[in-house]
Amino acid sequence: MYTARVLERLLRPDEADLCLVNRENYWVYQPMLPEVISGSIGLMDVVCPIRRLCPRTNLVMREVEEIDLRNKVVTVSPGFRPRQKKIPYDYLVIALGEVTNFYGMPGMLENAMPFRTLADAIALRNHVIHVLEEADVEEDADLRRKLLTFVVGGGGFSGVEVIAELNNFVTEVKQNYLKLRNEQVRCVLVHSRGRILPEMADPLALFAQKILKKRGVEIILNDRLVAATSEKAILKSGLEVPSKTIVSTVPSASPVVLQGLNCAKEKGSLLVNSRLELVGFEGQVWALGDCASIKTASGSVVPPTAQHATREAATCALNITAAMRGGEARGFAFEGLGTLGSLGHGSAVAQIFGVKISGWLAWILWRTIYLMKIPGIKSKIRIQMDWLVHLLFPPDLSQTGTWQDSAIKNQHFEPGDIVFHQGDLGDSVYVIEKGECEVVKQEDGVERTVATLRGGNYFGEMAVLSDVTRNATVRARTAMEVLIIPKDDFNQLRKSVPAFGEVFQELARKRAEER
Ligand SMILES: Cc1cc2nc3c(=O)[nH]c(=O)nc-3n(C[C@H](O)[C@H](O)[C@H](O)COP(=O)(O)OP(=O)(O)OC[C@H]3O[C@@H](n4cnc5c(N)ncnc54)[C@H](O)[C@@H]3O)c2cc1C
Repeated sequence: MYTARVLERLLRPDEADLCLVNRENYWVYQPMLPEVISGSIGLMDVVCPIRRLCPRTNLVMREVEEIDLRNKVVTVSPGFRPRQKKIPYDYLVIALGEVTNFYGMPGMLENAMPFRTLADAIALRNHVIHVLEEADVEEDADLRRKLLTFVVGGGGFSGVEVIAELNNFVTEVKQNYLKLRNEQVRCVLVHSRGRILPEMADPLALFAQKILKKRGVEIILNDRLVAATSEKAILKSGLEVPSKTIVSTVPSASPVVLQGLNCAKEKGSLLVNSRLELVGFEGQVWALGDCASIKTASGSVVPPTAQHATREAATCALNITAAMRGGEARGFAFEGLGTLGSLGHGSAVAQIFGVKISGWLAWILWRTIYLMKIPGIKSKIRIQMDWLVHLLFPPDLSQTGTWQDSAIKNQHFEPGDIVFHQGDLGDSVYVIEKGECEVVKQEDGVERTVATLRGGNYFGEMAVLSDVTRNATVRARTAMEVLIIPKDDFNQLRKSVPAFGEVFQELARKRAEER
């Protein structure tokens, strides 16, 4: 987003078409996400619509599925109509960030919550309110203790900010739960090293530890989360913490689409030179932010922070302009201004230009600096209003309705409605509950009906099983009720219940023979 914004300023409209692919249509200010947990910043106030921030850029709100560096094409996911879109490019910037990766950590995927996106923050806030509601009505003392225990893995900035916000929030709002007022809340931070906040100097990290402990946070050092069940967090030392809430901000990995990218990498991150060009694709592809392995022009390793990423974006934009106009590229030379971490409740730690500050002054500094960094006057005003309201009133404890029904769903079709088109990607399997449809094939501009399907029949399995596009169109003949099983759920069911998969394998085999 920052690269596009700078390119909009540098390039004339007749000089370049700018295109930004992002899975959301908003930009999110991650450093303020932990405050969404307590509601001290409103859900919508940490985000800005990209279309307003980059008015001259074509936004494609889709998922990047493949990057073909040789042929210079980016393939993005299908939309409402299941067809992939290919976007050819002359110059490409890759800035896909990182993901939390629970690979090799049994039960973490199912039971631990990552904390990176707005959706993660909303899910965590809703979950925390849910466990408080449950603890208030639960009579089993053991279960109540698990419901009131919150475990966070990772003592870097995001882990520390999350545990601080979580602890402040539950301690304050438990006063509103009649049966919880005198109950003990347990907030546990697990960190793999000898002290938290490895990015900061010893005195500041120790100050942060002291403040957190004073507020009742338990800190477990030199240990790490390695597994989880629905009942407990399991640490490397063998220690088990019974809990219904496990959050993990570590470990990080490249997004899946970059893991398969055939190019120079260092520890899984895209390897770039000091001009931020992807090694082997100089002058065509640039990479920046958390997904790239970057060293400054003087050789220092660039950490994965927003203050660096935004400046890398400006360097990329300048270098792309230079590549287009034949100018000279510049090296990335920003060495960092310092680090800031909020502990909530009027306390923070800061290390700026080598000066170490902690407590209230650091907190004011944290808020002022981060507020200045947010683009757009509207967001700045909204966040200041949020902070003022939070200062004057207790935190809100309403859940926001983001419950997700199962992806398997029912759908109604009227006569003549198309269920899917020939040539679409196979994204679901269908079971007819009521009604009738016809399967028609287009060949040389002529339409031919190849089958009529009725209640109890299945269809759509061939393209899903063989990962090819639909070889026919399916159209409702009568009003029709259908159960739609999305591809991922279908494959999961096939894996777990082989007999289920065999029914569809057999059907696909028969249909292939009939063709
Ligand atoms: C909770 C938290 C707190 C933080 N606090 C601070 C802080 O206080 N100070 C600081 O300097 N840094 C902080 N950081 C780090 C900082 O936010 C990151 O370093 C910075 O955002 C990296 O920018 P990026 O562009 O590389 O990635 P991101 O900002 O993560 O952006 C990547 C974008 O790519 C999109 N995307 C990813 N994969 C795909 C795909 N396949 N298709 C389409 N879109 C895709 C994502 O949706 C996202 O919009 C924090 C991070 C977190 C998670």
